[in-house]
Amino acid sequence: TLSGKTAVVTGSTSGIGLAYARAFAGAGANIVINGFGAPADIEKERSAIEKDFGVKAVHSPADMTKPEEIAEMIALGEKTYGSVDILVNNAGVQFVSPIEEFPIDKWNMIIAINLSSAFHSIRAAVPGMKKRGWGRIINTASAHSLVASPFKSAYVSAKHGIAGLTKAVALELATHKITANCISPGYVWTPLVEKQIPDTMKARGMTKEQVINDVMLDAQPTKEFVTVEQVAALALFLCGDDAAQITGANLSIDGGWTAA
Ligand code: NAD
Repeated sequence: TLSGKTAVVTGSTSGIGLAYARAFAGAGANIVINGFGAPADIEKERSAIEKDFGVKAVHSPADMTKPEEIAEMIALGEKTYGSVDILVNNAGVQFVSPIEEFPIDKWNMIIAINLSSAFHSIRAAVPGMKKRGWGRIINTASAHSLVASPFKSAYVSAKHGIAGLTKAVALELATHKITANCISPGYVWTPLVEKQIPDTMKARGMTKEQVINDVMLDAQPTKEFVTVEQVAALALFLCGDDAAQITGANLSIDGGWTAA
């Protein structure tokens, strides 16, 4: 049980992050959700967490490109609940382009959101975790932290980077009962994936079914999408006592993608 603990999940107004937040709440943790969206939609998700699981949930509007707002998000968790025990760095964006045309601002944005934000949040959360002698840091990496795909230079760089950051942090915190791991999903059915379909249909002259089966699931030997609930269940396991000796690991949940 995570009762009495607080989890901060970045990018949790949608997709995998929302599933993490609901899984931790289901185990009794109070939650700081974070991410963008229409205020009414965010409020709906926030209040549903409280109502469905009988815990507290607050929303931090912190923009993961802004170091001072990231520090404020951690401070909000500590101020509201007294601690931040579980930190999940999950906010992420994608942009697909040949490298010679890759917009410089998109490169900077992807490195900021998908990599540097985790540095800033870990930096802010570790002092409290050390003081209390317990912590769980989980970073959503990707199959692209282990292998590459063309036209995703910024995303692949950021995801390889976060796998390295996770290892360094795990070693630094190893004797403090704080673990740091990354979870590396293959294709998970979320808005991030759904939004890539129209562009890929256009770029490759394919139907939606062809994009799903011949492009996306082509990489995934099981030929099935991972579900957000499966990813969240792995994160929940990492928060338990049985996972106390799992640290510095990069855990694949990719239908066999990176085995190939
Ligand atoms: P999603 O688009 O459903 O959710 C992304 C979340 O990040 C949203 O809550 C969004 O508001 C938030 N976000 C975006 N920019 C932000 C910013 N600047 N500041 C704060 N929040 C911001 O995507 P998802 O598929 O759930 O992806 C979540 C994570 O999982 C990402 O890191 C992604 O790279 C990773 N991932 C996804 C897949 C997949 O197939 N969906 C596979 C591997 C890894």
